[in-house]
Amino acid sequence: MTAKQQTRTLSNGTELPVFGLGVWQARDGRETEQAVHWALEAGYRLIDTAQDYRNEASVGKAIRESGVPRDEIFLTTKFRPDGKDARVEAEKSLERLGADYLDLYLVHWPQSGPTWAWPGMEAAVDAGLTKGIGISNFSAAELAELGKVARIQPVVNQVLFSPFDYRAGLVEACEAANVVVQAYSPLGTGRHLDGPVVTRIADATGHTPAQVLIRWALQKGLSVIPKSVHQNRIVENAGVFDFELDDAAMAELDALDTTGRTADAMSRSSKWWS
Ligand code: NDP
Repeated sequence: MTAKQQTRTLSNGTELPVFGLGVWQARDGRETEQAVHWALEAGYRLIDTAQDYRNEASVGKAIRESGVPRDEIFLTTKFRPDGKDARVEAEKSLERLGADYLDLYLVHWPQSGPTWAWPGMEAAVDAGLTKGIGISNFSAAELAELGKVARIQPVVNQVLFSPFDYRAGLVEACEAANVVVQAYSPLGTGRHLDGPVVTRIADATGHTPAQVLIRWALQKGLSVIPKSVHQNRIVENAGVFDFELDDAAMAELDALDTTGRTADAMSRSSKWWS
């Protein structure tokens, strides 16, 4: 089975690949273009960028030059929530991307509260700029507050999620609200790759630490977006559909959680926006 074959159906009817490439900290220009090129070549069909990453132009260029039809690629970008109008900013993203539409447009974080940006997000859907809208770094409480006022419901919540950040309470609340959870920093931005439990399970299964961490999140039912700018790692990270972690390995990884299975998206001290 290849990465591109597995999807989750979102509440707006679109199909979200369960696996894709993130490009935070990939430099605009050749570095991002190559990463996206290699990912599409390796079968990735989901690319996650953001206005804040300043590499939308390179993502768009690589997609256009890939030869992969646009409608076979799921393209996400994120609204930088600093008071501007989300619809207008979506238009600017599409210009930079050189694309006609987004598949998903996320509020990057709930700065100044979870609801103010939403009318602009809904207007982006109404204008045909994006198929779906969603959120990122929203807690269960913030999702509930948004749900009460939203005319168009969020389809995805993208959150920090790995065995060390096992936010089971948040996943449960999202699933109950028909919101698919997407795991960002599944490798802990590289920090979780050399821990003793992860490396032992990797050795025992004949896979790499990165593959174990990605597989764990997939088996939790999430969509997962590891980042790499190296071709060998991009290919390696996609090699997660030919094995399964057994119950014992899953339980050992679950036990690495440091969040108390929280329904929050962030600890108070790690919120960079407040
Ligand atoms: P990841 O957890 O995906 O880890 C990426 C790091 O691990 C990079 O340093 C990468 O290095 C390294 N790496 C990747 N694969 C391997 C491998 N197989 N072996 C060894 N090292 C590896 O980090 P991110 O924090 O970037 O999260 C992934 C994506 O999630 C982001 O790119 C972004 O799209 C999204 N995100 C969203 C956020 C939000 O607020 N919504 C916040 C943070 C991330 P190298 O690139 O040099 O290969």
